[in-house]
Order: sequence, then C-alpha cells, then structure tokens
Amino acid sequence: MIIEFENGRQSTVDQIRDLAARFGLAIEITQRIGVYSTIHVIGDTREFAAREGYLRDLPGVRATWRVTSDFKNIARVVSGADGIALRRPRRVVEVPGLDGLARRFGSGQHIFIVGPDSPQTLEQTLAIARAARAIGERYGVTDRMMLRGGAFKPRTRPTDWRGLGMKGIAMLDRAREETGLPYVTEVMDLNLVPEVGEHADMLQIGTRNAQNFDLLEAVGRFGKPVILKRGFGNEVTEWFHAAEYIANQGDLDIVLCERGVKTLFTKGGYCRNQPDLNAITYARRQTILPIIFDPSHVTGDHRLVPENVMAACAHLVDGTITETLHDEAFRKEQLCDAGQALLMDHYAMVVEAVLAFEHHVAPRLLAMQEALER
Ligand code: PEP
Ligand code: MN
Repeated sequence: MIIEFENGRQSTVDQIRDLAARFGLAIEITQRIGVYSTIHVIGDTREFAAREGYLRDLPGVRATWRVTSDFKNIARVVSGADGIALRRPRRVVEVPGLDGLARRFGSGQHIFIVGPDSPQTLEQTLAIARAARAIGERYGVTDRMMLRGGAFKPRTRPTDWRGLGMKGIAMLDRAREETGLPYVTEVMDLNLVPEVGEHADMLQIGTRNAQNFDLLEAVGRFGKPVILKRGFGNEVTEWFHAAEYIANQGDLDIVLCERGVKTLFTKGGYCRNQPDLNAITYARRQTILPIIFDPSHVTGDHRLVPENVMAACAHLVDGTITETLHDEAFRKEQLCDAGQALLMDHYAMVVEAVLAFEHHVAPRLLAMQEALER
C-alpha cells in the first residue's frame, strides 16, 4: 500500500509505522520535492489495508493506494490503482562485520565474497580468510571483503559428501573471529534457519531451493540479510516472485544472485551453466534489490572465472561470490566443486582488474546508460 502525506507530519508517520509493525510490516518513506511524501508499506498488507479508512483520516494524509504492480515489495516502480507511479530508490543492503565495517551491497562499490565451496578443515578455512583479509588491506577494500562457505551442501547424488553441518559453521565462526570478515552460508532446511541464522551474518538460498516457498518465508521471518540465487531453470519473473516470498515477511534485505541457468547448450559438459548476464541489467532496472553474480557455478572451471567476473562488471553488477582455494595442493582433497576453485593468489589479480574497471570504465558506462534511458 502507498500512502501520500504532507511533509512534516511526524506523528502521522509514527502512527502508520506503529500500525504497520503490529502486522509485521516495514515502511519505506520516499521524500519528494514539494509538500508531499509517500510511504510504501512492505509485506503482506491485506489486514493492514483493511484499515484504509483510519489511515485516510490521519492528519495530513492526502491519499492511499493499493499497489497494483505484480512485485509489490521489490519493484523499482510500484503503481497504485489510479495511475500513481512511485519510483523507488535502489536499496543498499548492509552486512556488518566484527571489524566494525559494514559491507554495503548496492552502494556502487563492488562487494567481493570469497571462500571455499565448503569448509572442510579449519586450516583451509582460516587460510582463505586470512588471504581475503590481506587482499582487502593491500587494495584498501577490507570494507568490501566477505567470506562464503556452504556447511550444508545440496548434492545431486545422495552418496556424495554433504558438508560438515554445524562443525563447518564453527569453522566459519572462527574465521570471522580472527579476521573480522562477515560470512554468508547456505541454509537448506527451514527448521535450521534459527540455528544457522544465529551464527551467520548472511544466509544463502541456493539454486535448488530457489522455489522452496516455506524456506523462503522462514528466512524472511528470521530477518537477516539473504542472498537469493536464481533457480537454474527459473525465468527472471519466477526469481523475482521468490524474492517477494521473502519480502512479504517484511525482510527487504535481499541480494539477488545470478548463477547461470541450464540450457540446451550446457549439455555435453563444455561449461556447467550458462551465465544470463542480461538478467543482471534487467533485475537492476526492474527491482530495488542489489544484484551479484557467481562466476564459479556458471563455469565449473576456475580458468574461466576472471573473464566472467569482468563480464558481470560490464553489466554493472553490485558484487561477486567466488569459490576459492588457498593452496593448489588442496585441490585434489577438495570434496565438492574442486575444479572451479580459484587460487587466492589469482583472485588478487581479479580484485585489481575490478578496481581498474570501477575507476576507468564504470563511470563511462553509467553515463552511457543514463543517456540511453533519458
Ligand atoms: C554454492 O554456492 O556452493 C552452491 C551450491 O550454489 P548454487 O546453489 O548456485 O549451485
Ligand atoms: Mn559450490
């Protein structure tokens, strides 16, 4: 629901916020030039909207509209019944670290997430985290570095190794303690959301669970920032609806992640998935959510990771999540996704290339986009 009100009516804003909170909803205020602003109420607003008469009578309220857009909570432009269109600012999703620095997805600066496919040993997990911290310091981007690692692994074959579970989470906790870097980890079971979520700084919904609606809602209710990977067979609108399941619970701290889709052409093993790069641009235009890219699962081959990162940068992506390796000797011991893990030494070169891109190319691309959209 959208409520338009006169600027300076703080008590009205407070009453709307209180009523929204009673139904577990969040509000977003868009300050507009002139005398009116709008409030967008986020979540499942059916019960809230039944109070429309009360809302209209609050001092300074000019109008209320039910949102008619398909993506009520995440759309960049939401519209109401009588043609009002509200263009919302893109959202910045913040993930604070123990080091006191917030990683800000959607701020215009690339967020670098690195780590093993899965924490297997403490030594491996710490070595990658230390290398990430060192790269952050070397290039002055510590506030953009973050860790990843799946302790609960979705595997195609039931006989494959499925991660260390909470023991793996404990390794990620140790890596965070030592380096201050926050971490994201996958959650697959809705009953484990509180337990995993209590440890992790950010939760990941993997491609196989992208339409596990109960899990999406459980993560949304929990309220921590979340990376939502696109289902490997999902259309972009299905992906956006999945994000709506989370947002509908009042959690808008969602980062979309393009990780490649299966197509006719990925058969035969030349690459694991097909990156749908245009989806990045489309998601940025259609939604308020930050969007990152996974160059590891789109390729399945670490030698193809650098150019995929740069291709996503050309689409003005907000960050990347890359699977990495601390020591080449460990590759043969890695139990999942070994072939796609990029050595941290090589990852440092990727960071350098991304920063050069940000400095020299991104401003020109942005200017071109603005000119084209004018
Ligand atoms: C992963 O991040 O290791 C993973 C399993 O990703 P996806 O769900 O994209 O395959
Ligand atoms: Mn993986």
